[in-house]
Order: sequence, then C-alpha cells, then structure tokens
Amino acid sequence: MAIRKIVKIGDDCLRQECRKQEKFDLRLKILLKDMADTMYKAEGVGLAAPQVGVLRRVVVIDVGDQGDGLLELINPVITMREGEQCGREGCLSLPGRQAVVTRPRKVTVQYQKRDGVHCEKTVEGLFARAVCHELDHLDGKLFIDRISRLKRIMFENKLKKGTRQSQVK
Ligand code: ZN
Repeated sequence: MAIRKIVKIGDDCLRQECRKQEKFDLRLKILLKDMADTMYKAEGVGLAAPQVGVLRRVVVIDVGDQGDGLLELINPVITMREGEQCGREGCLSLPGRQAVVTRPRKVTVQYQKRDGVHCEKTVEGLFARAVCHELDHLDGKLFIDRISRLKRIMFENKLKKGTRQSQVK
C-alpha cells in the first residue's frame, strides 16, 4: 500500500491538460492501486491522476452504497449528459472548501479498463457528479471554475486569507 501526496490548489499539476494513457502496463496498475489507497485514506469518493502529480487521463471513483465498488476509468470521455442536479461539492485538492455546483443528473462515460478493454457505463446522482468532477481534473478544471464569477472571487479571497469557511451559500 502506497499513499501518494495529494497536490493542493496552487500547484501547476491541477491546471494542465492531461495526456492519454497509452500503455496498459505494470506502471499503470501501480498507479491505480496507489490512487485507490490514497483516495480511501483521504475518505474521498474520487481521485484523478493529476491530483497525485501524474498528468495522465486516469481516474478512480468509489461512491460507496451509491455505486458498485471501485471503478477505474482510463481515457474516459462523457458521451451523454441528461438532466440537471444541484448539490454541494468538495475536492481533496481544496480541503475544507465546498460549493454548490450544477451538474448533469445522468451521464454515460466511455473508458478503458486497466487491461485496455473498452467499456461504457451510465450513472446517475452522486456517481454522475463524481464522474463529471474527476473528468474535469483531466482538463485542468476545478469545481470552483463552475460556480459564478462573484462566488469564485469571494472564494479565492477566502483562500488567500486562509480563513476557514465550511459552507458557501
Ligand atoms: Zn477534485
């Protein structure tokens, strides 16, 4: 079990476009295992490779009761979005910060498994939210980019001041 360091907001890794994962080798399997261990230790429901400093299109998600265990997504692409849901969201790279973010209620995601096999999955609710959030990371986007400009400015000011704020209305 290897816990990797989760990079925090301000780190360049979180603002990069990640490269496609081309090799389905031992190195990928180690990355996936480490990412899952790191996510569980941090009690998150998802983690993207750039959050551990690896600029590859690799994501792990486990939404507990609302899903079916650990899901590994390699080179994921959302091919269908349906409906809308509004809910509170946080991020392991922005500890202690949350905001209400609007996301699709249901999404279909195409991806590859650890052995390179192509798959497709349709998910709803928290699972859909987690997929959208983690896939954003692969394009250098954070949930704070999805809230209004005014809220973001308030949010960033709070980050600068370093004051703790558990709720953003
Ligand atoms: Zn995140």
